[in-house]
Amino acid sequence: MEKFIPEDSSPYFNREMETLSRAEIEALQLQRLQQTVAHCMQSPFYKKRFEEIGLKPEAIQSLQDLRKIPFTTKQDLRDTYPFGMASVPLRECVRLHSSSGTTGTPTVILHTQRDLDEWANQVARNLWMVGLRPDDVFQNSSGYGMFTGGLGFQYGAERLGMLTIPAAAGNSLRQIKFMTDFGTTAVHAVPSYVTRLREVMDSVGVDPRRDTKLRVLAIGAEPHSEEQRRRIEEMMGVKAYNSFGMSEMCGPGVGFECPEQNGLHFWEDYYIVEIVDPETLEPVPDGEVGELVLTTLCREAMPLLRYRTRDLTRVLGRSCPCGRNHVRLDRMRGRSDDMMVLRGVNIFPIQIEKILMQFPELANNYLITLTTDDDNDNMLVEVELEELFTDDYQRLQALQKRIQRALKDEILLTPHVKLVPKNTLPVSDGKAVRVIDKRKVYQ
Ligand code: ADP
Ligand code: ZN
Repeated sequence: MEKFIPEDSSPYFNREMETLSRAEIEALQLQRLQQTVAHCMQSPFYKKRFEEIGLKPEAIQSLQDLRKIPFTTKQDLRDTYPFGMASVPLRECVRLHSSSGTTGTPTVILHTQRDLDEWANQVARNLWMVGLRPDDVFQNSSGYGMFTGGLGFQYGAERLGMLTIPAAAGNSLRQIKFMTDFGTTAVHAVPSYVTRLREVMDSVGVDPRRDTKLRVLAIGAEPHSEEQRRRIEEMMGVKAYNSFGMSEMCGPGVGFECPEQNGLHFWEDYYIVEIVDPETLEPVPDGEVGELVLTTLCREAMPLLRYRTRDLTRVLGRSCPCGRNHVRLDRMRGRSDDMMVLRGVNIFPIQIEKILMQFPELANNYLITLTTDDDNDNMLVEVELEELFTDDYQRLQALQKRIQRALKDEILLTPHVKLVPKNTLPVSDGKAVRVIDKRKVYQ
């Protein structure tokens, strides 16, 4: 495959695809959808499913006809574990990624070489979009291996032509040394890890503005609030762009913010985006929150039709001052299964984060613990203090009360709030664990 790298001055990695008009996007989508559906008949799973409901691939004549196709769910991936979804013989596949399986049977995603090439192109497109060029030095602090944030960013950054440092997860001192020694200009990290990295920098006297060449962060793989992003930008002195991906769709590269930072552009030459009501499964109007459903348009080994991601978001718009008309989606609120139901109230961890981040006295780490006593649900919010722990008890108590009130206004019930010293809550190398639900033990 020919590897084309545009002129540095071009704002687009793939001008043709990135600047399609809406009409052109839709025409391309229909053509690719028809090809994808026809190709899916090679998959034992889809062949059977289409036969069961008497749907012929030729019945897809317009984008609206997509709605004739049943949804695909994570359960379908589990039921067909390991290879029942494949649309090509295994000998044509060159890579397998698998979810950890901590929440049930693992799932498997297969890739052909072409799938991997397209994935690299997607990631390169995103990194180019936020101003990275072959002169940049890209450091990836994702776990490598099954977690797609590792190899996904690796191949994308290489495709763009950057010097790429596969630092992998953890070992913050080594990350910082790489950054200063190799002149790292861009880092990919989960948002919670950036906070950790900054704290370790502090402890060894490294100031990212003074001692590094860092100018771009790609942050993603876990939900985070706008407030958290702004804090990260402020603490590192760089722009931080939201990156969305999921293994089922390939990995990172599915959606990314452009320099306008006005939502995630989801690449509609690669995916059809639907937002549906998670109960009725009917489409919701633009601007309304619903479940993100994605159909792959360029996947060979394992195309997925109308895959229910369980991620909740909404359409913000379909045009942008950056010249890209690919749909813009709001940052994810979390997955439907992240939702906590307490005394009948639905709460997302991100709502709590949004409030906590408004208090300059607080640092970025927090942990929500749910318990039951006397049949009542209780929520404990532990959050780290930004300043060194003070023993001015009255001041702390007043702060704690203010936080509690602000949380109550947002989530409609009063949590217990505990202020803890900085660096005392657990941190993980990968995605942050924000909620511990001890209630489940008793159910
Ligand atoms: P796992 O399913 O094991 O978490 P994935 O890496 O496939 O592994 O995770 C994909 C999920 O991560 C998405 O469905 C979404 O819930 C979350 N996610 C990824 N990127 C973002 C992001 N930028 N903002 C919010 N959530 C994200
Ligand atoms: Zn844009």
